[in-house]
Amino acid sequence: MARILLRNAQLLDPESPAPQAASLLLDEGRIAARLGADVIGAGDAVVIDVSGLYVAPGFLDVHWHGALALAAAEDLAGALDSASRERVREGVTAFLPTTMAWPEAELAGFVAALAWALGTGRFEGARPLGIHLEGPWISPQAAGAQPTAGVRPVDLAEVCTLLDRAGGTIRMVTLAPEIPGADGLLAELARRQIVAALGHSVAGVRDVERAIDSGARHVTHLFNAMGPLHHRSPGLAGCALSDDRLGFDLICDGVHVDPRLVKIAFRAQRDQLVLITDRVVPIGDGSRGAESVESDGSAIRLPDRRLAGSTLGLDRAVRNACQYAGVSILEAVAACTLRPARLLGLENELGTLRRGARADLAILDASGQVVETWIAGECVHAIA
Ligand SMILES: [Zn+2]
Repeated sequence: MARILLRNAQLLDPESPAPQAASLLLDEGRIAARLGADVIGAGDAVVIDVSGLYVAPGFLDVHWHGALALAAAEDLAGALDSASRERVREGVTAFLPTTMAWPEAELAGFVAALAWALGTGRFEGARPLGIHLEGPWISPQAAGAQPTAGVRPVDLAEVCTLLDRAGGTIRMVTLAPEIPGADGLLAELARRQIVAALGHSVAGVRDVERAIDSGARHVTHLFNAMGPLHHRSPGLAGCALSDDRLGFDLICDGVHVDPRLVKIAFRAQRDQLVLITDRVVPIGDGSRGAESVESDGSAIRLPDRRLAGSTLGLDRAVRNACQYAGVSILEAVAACTLRPARLLGLENELGTLRRGARADLAILDASGQVVETWIAGECVHAIA
């Protein structure tokens, strides 16, 4: 693989306080060195002048349903392939395909099919890193658009069978800490080093504290599908905003969370906020079982108008965050690079511009539009 010098860039390094004029030397699909912006060459490296564009780590989305939410099990591998090719347009280089609260047999079938598809390891674009189980062990009072028939208390035998069958591909589980059996589930996730995220929950502070003591460190889509932030009863949202032990993610589309609340979330816990898409792509007739969803142009909704996912790309979430919260593009980029990588324990490899990290990169113009996306030192997407 050729050595490549990306010269004359503005690096958006989430571990630096400000953008930095520099050049990046890529070798064997990894970041080999950081050189001066005006360096002309580096040995035999192919020189590409980035003309002062931003160079950021590739974006990482830990919550994405895409077409999986509505695909049949036999179509999953194809849906994942298409997603891998398409997601590079939004600067995404890695993501967690996310399940829903399906009934036991259906969920087991999906997880097995997804684990198989992940195991093939042949993806042309963004890499699916593993599975995010969103439910089924969530609160029926905060199911959101999750299929309520599948929402259930924890059965540890089911948990262990499912996690065993997935062969280590499950990286994150969203659960409600107040439901029966949640303590056992949290212990099992901790034992297997799977990220426990609290969400779809009406937990009170005491339940949240207990979950933190059992290893929970993250909250799924802050404000959505959880109890309200009441001044005498702060609940999960209040804990997420005030407790330094908890990170949280947020759907920054201006619909799921009002822009003012995005600003409050950034101000409260700037270093804990992760941007996700929670994207759902309606396919076929948009139905799966009894539920059907469609886009109203700004979000995905059920027939009764309840929100059922976003139409976001992660690049738009970054631009929205800058606009709504008044944060710099570097701060918004950190929320979908280093921070989700840290959540998954992959920060030496992904979400960073450290020497030795994978050369997965998003190249952006001054307005935050994706100009090019690179995977393992190769340009896989460039705007015409
Ligand atoms: Zn979701």
